[in-house]
Amino acid sequence: MIEVSNLWKKFGRHDALRGLTFHVPEGAAFALIGANGAGKTTTIKALMNIIEPTRGNITVLGVDSKKLSPRELSRIGYVSENQDMPARMTVADYIAYLRPFYPDWDRNLEAEILKRLRLPANRHIRDLSHGMRMKNSLACALPFRPKLLVLDEPFSGLDPLVRDEFMEGLLDQAGEMTILISSHELSEIEGMVTHVGFIDEGKLLFAESMTDLTGRFREVRVVLEQPVSTSSKQPEHWLGLQTSGNVLTFVDTRFTETGFGELVTSFVGAARRIDTEPMALRSIFTTLARACRDTTELQQEKTI
Ligand code: ATP
Repeated sequence: MIEVSNLWKKFGRHDALRGLTFHVPEGAAFALIGANGAGKTTTIKALMNIIEPTRGNITVLGVDSKKLSPRELSRIGYVSENQDMPARMTVADYIAYLRPFYPDWDRNLEAEILKRLRLPANRHIRDLSHGMRMKNSLACALPFRPKLLVLDEPFSGLDPLVRDEFMEGLLDQAGEMTILISSHELSEIEGMVTHVGFIDEGKLLFAESMTDLTGRFREVRVVLEQPVSTSSKQPEHWLGLQTSGNVLTFVDTRFTETGFGELVTSFVGAARRIDTEPMALRSIFTTLARACRDTTELQQEKTI
């Protein structure tokens, strides 16, 4: 669905993207995550041919993103808070204006979505609140059953009820399309996401399936026989080490069940008890974001 190869984007002398390579398989819900300014929106804009990459190749639905024609665009839904919409049109007029551009537009689905999102059809777009504008953007992107749906920060500024409504609108169709989403609302999207790409300062540190990612991250708590010696060396993929008396806590970014107990004792001595907890996407993100802030690029490659 999407292939990105060695994508670079310079703004003046600033490298906003530094050689991103990843692909989004058909049917995936791929989340691009990263701290503020990491390069998520820039990546999405390059994919959607809104900005031109400095270097690299992107194909979307099998076509070079710089050559996306109305045929491909009629199969791609794009939702972003930065989207321009004609302020003087009403919601209903705008939707009527869009319909002819999409051969697969489904009027019944359109009616269902408008009802579910409770959008005021006769209100002018200029009079919509921020949340209503985002819902309007979604209502325009779903009725043609896009093959690919690209969502850039779709939840920003939405109240919890609107988020739920937005999410329901999305989940109804999620199985039928490929989704690329950038969002900081990781708890909201966790249940939907199948793949995750993590960007830090314009570099993609990894892109992998949620199963692999959640499989290799564990919150670990070790109760040792002896107080922890802070001088002992630990593996670089143990992040956020903290000690308190006999208790050691950390996040293992390369957890494997087999031999884990032996590995722990070989580094920190005999353990009375070892507990490991799977981590939610949000906790994985905060662990990674903290590690990125505190380590050099070279260390990141070893630890993440
Ligand atoms: P956020 O989570 O805050 O939305 P992001 O990951 O989407 O962040 P981008 O908007 O892609 O980040 O920005 C990446 C970097 O590129 C930032 O350092 C930003 O300041 C810079 N940048 C983005 N657009 C421009 C522009 N038009 N001109 C100059 N610099 C830009």
